[in-house]
Amino acid sequence: MTDRYAVFGNPIGHSKSPRIHALFAAQTGQDISYEAILAPPDGFAASIDAFLAAKGGPARGANVTVPFKEEAFRLATRRTARAEAAGAVNTLSFDAGAIIGDNTDGAGLIRDLKNNVGCDPAGRRILLLGAGGAARGVILPLLLENPAELLIANRTEETAARLALEFARLPGCAVDVKPDGTGFAGLDGRQFDLVINATSAGLGNAVLPLPTSVFAPHCVAYEMFYGRETAFMAQARAAGARVGDGLGMLVEQAAEAFFVWRGVRPHTAPVLAAIKA
Ligand code: NDP
Repeated sequence: MTDRYAVFGNPIGHSKSPRIHALFAAQTGQDISYEAILAPPDGFAASIDAFLAAKGGPARGANVTVPFKEEAFRLATRRTARAEAAGAVNTLSFDAGAIIGDNTDGAGLIRDLKNNVGCDPAGRRILLLGAGGAARGVILPLLLENPAELLIANRTEETAARLALEFARLPGCAVDVKPDGTGFAGLDGRQFDLVINATSAGLGNAVLPLPTSVFAPHCVAYEMFYGRETAFMAQARAAGARVGDGLGMLVEQAAEAFFVWRGVRPHTAPVLAAIKA
């Protein structure tokens, strides 16, 4: 019997996950099906129940995207440490009545930075823009890479301050984790080796009020949004930074979920190339 998987979101029509997982399955010879399911805004848990009860092969797992990641966190009967740190779940595994919640977004970012973008976060001065779900999900994985510092800047400063305090208090955290303290205004004159845009400003192509100085010589600017050039990417390019977008993170977080479910790690480079094409 073919093991069943799906991605749940709203909207979901645009999702590249079914194609990515079909390519992973073909490459690794895994017998799985993977579909995209549109869950109603107030019907995420019911949609998961229906998926579990549907006829066919056993339901083994699910990916979860906007706006259900926090609800998936609450639905899980057990959670991994990285899901706990992220406060959100993007990967569910179904195992004999248990629902295990995981978060592979951070691992996806780190793998993309190291393997595709060619930027190892170790020892770098990192500026993280944004303090929403995506930012929260990548803070612990970034800290585990031992950057020189991690500064969090957000339009709403209190959210950045709360996040920085929470992660700076982690036992064993040797990294200087700080909020910028001014919601972007205090960045003038500061320099970073890696600037990650985890705001959703790219959606509306809003320009972030960033001073050019934040992009140090040889800086890498990483836009988590993908699909088109954003104002942030243009701003970073103009300042001389090397620019990457979030498509690689999307493929890498999917590969991590595939590994969690199947115990096999697919090669991501050909899949990333196929999705880009
Ligand atoms: P959230 O809604 O949780 O957070 C949005 C963040 O963006 C907040 O910090 C918000 O600031 C900030 N923001 C929104 N609009 C503006 C603006 N005009 N100017 C400045 N700041 C702004 O979203 P997520 O964290 O879930 O997603 C953020 C981005 O990451 C999205 O573009 C998403 O597509 C991308 N993403 C990519 C992934 C990938 O695999 N490539 C995976 C997950 C996310 P404030 O607190 O002030 O409201």
